[in-house]
Amino acid sequence: MAAIYSVNSGASETLSLPIPGQRNILITSALPYVNNQPHLGNIIGCVLSGDVFARYCRLRGWNTIYLSGTDEYGTATEVKALVEGKSPKEICDQYHEVHREIYQMFNISFDIFGRTTTTEQTVIAQQIFLDLEHHDCFIEQETKQLYSEMSQIFLADRYIEGTCPKCSYVNAKGDQCDQCHQLLNPLELIDPICCIDGSRPILKKTKHLYLNFDKYRSRLEEWLKQSMERGQWSPCATSITKAWLERGLEPRCITRDLKWGTPVPLKKYEDKVFYVWFDAPIGYISIMAQVCREWRQWWQNPDQVELYQFMGKDNVAFHSIVFPYTLLATEANWTMVNHISATHYLQYGTQKFSKSRGIGIFGSDIASTLIPVDVWRFYLIMMRPENADTSFDWNDFQSKNNTELVNNIGNYINRVISFVTKQFDGILPEANLVTETEVIQSINTVLSTFHDNMNSLKLRDALRNCLSISSIGNKYWQLQQPWKLLKTNMEKCQTVILLCANIIKLLATMLEPFMPKTSDLILSQLQDQHILIPEQFNLLLSPGHKIGVATPLFQKITNEMIVEYEMKFGVACNNSQTD
Ligand SMILES: [Zn+2]
Repeated sequence: MAAIYSVNSGASETLSLPIPGQRNILITSALPYVNNQPHLGNIIGCVLSGDVFARYCRLRGWNTIYLSGTDEYGTATEVKALVEGKSPKEICDQYHEVHREIYQMFNISFDIFGRTTTTEQTVIAQQIFLDLEHHDCFIEQETKQLYSEMSQIFLADRYIEGTCPKCSYVNAKGDQCDQCHQLLNPLELIDPICCIDGSRPILKKTKHLYLNFDKYRSRLEEWLKQSMERGQWSPCATSITKAWLERGLEPRCITRDLKWGTPVPLKKYEDKVFYVWFDAPIGYISIMAQVCREWRQWWQNPDQVELYQFMGKDNVAFHSIVFPYTLLATEANWTMVNHISATHYLQYGTQKFSKSRGIGIFGSDIASTLIPVDVWRFYLIMMRPENADTSFDWNDFQSKNNTELVNNIGNYINRVISFVTKQFDGILPEANLVTETEVIQSINTVLSTFHDNMNSLKLRDALRNCLSISSIGNKYWQLQQPWKLLKTNMEKCQTVILLCANIIKLLATMLEPFMPKTSDLILSQLQDQHILIPEQFNLLLSPGHKIGVATPLFQKITNEMIVEYEMKFGVACNNSQTD
């Protein structure tokens, strides 16, 4: 149990298939866009959240697949390739590796971590498109778009610069002016130039296909109502979805004048590709198809498979409306999302993460901090923006590490194990726990809340439940004073020791989804192995079991360290934490 699944670890050979009569859980994390490095906010938003839940599901014994991969097609990659004088494929290969390494370092237990630029993607996306075409879901519209004759490329708004018609700022972007912050239409810019080659863009006519939401709209709404009622949808997923529906579903363009994408399999459209929002969610399916010929058993099996999708709030509408509509309109029996866990944003202090401006902490910075990955995982989950945006704060990070990890969990485990080693030669004594019903009852209350929180995807509260278990242990230890009982009441002393050791084992098991390495370390100190998470407290370590030696699990973060990190990554503090 709880094997450490490495990223893309040859899942091809062993990917399990849904088992009739069991819970079969398919978990996806929103596909990160390939050409930038993930920052802490990206990591907590979907990749780490999905990992915590996937690990929990495995610890319940549920048949679980966790998948993600890099989203590789689109303008941004094509432009980056032009600018760097590389091929789009080279850019993707390079950054796919960057992502893979960062998630591996974070101990993200993907069963599959793939990519969208594959033959499987082309085959599946084109088939879905043809089904929609067959069901009359597209309309054609002609538009005029800015085009660079020099680079022979249609230009996305942000690749055009010119003078702002509102404030005369000379470097306004095609979509927004950085000086007056007004939203712009690129056609409004005075003296527009192409950012890629400096040429003057021309207006060129082009035809595109738009997805029309009329035909299957009532079916979509009926499905949505059921899914939201029965599933675990985070409040922001529900509110964003309802707002979209209320605003009315305008036809959405699904094609682009680009080369780097999945080709549109239709006459007169051969030189166009799918727009990434149409293409990328299909990546979830094709990424599994790359490693598993039987992928339909997961993806066309709604009665036996539960689909959980983790994402940031900016991705909700694509997963709750647009992609499900696409699947419904094929009229095939797809596995549709049952649960959407969407997060708000984590900011760096009061600022947005920005690689170019050197603000915040990015995936590859983590190793240089010497703070263990589990501590990062812990803090990110503690700050998970479940109800509103949250802020990374160095002082808060230090305080939570020093109080919760070092003083609460670390201290408790260290005291108990050291005491058993010293007084009982490391061997758990004979004892009867029937006298300790009050403590066991309070443990059970927390444990059952923990399961409720996990099942309703309130990961932050579930982590707090782990801290509560440790607090219960600490208080009990302090109250009973086993070092005194040793001389006055040996029988009671033995009871306290056995119970406290069992609380450690329970804690190690509950912590595994959040802090897998720490969980391993605690179990190695107990000289024991991973087990499924129990529903109720029971004897997990028996009298006579020999435990190992205590070593410190966590280190204090000092003021000097904080000063150093702030010099390196920028100051991040926020005195008005609300969430
Ligand atoms: Zn302006």
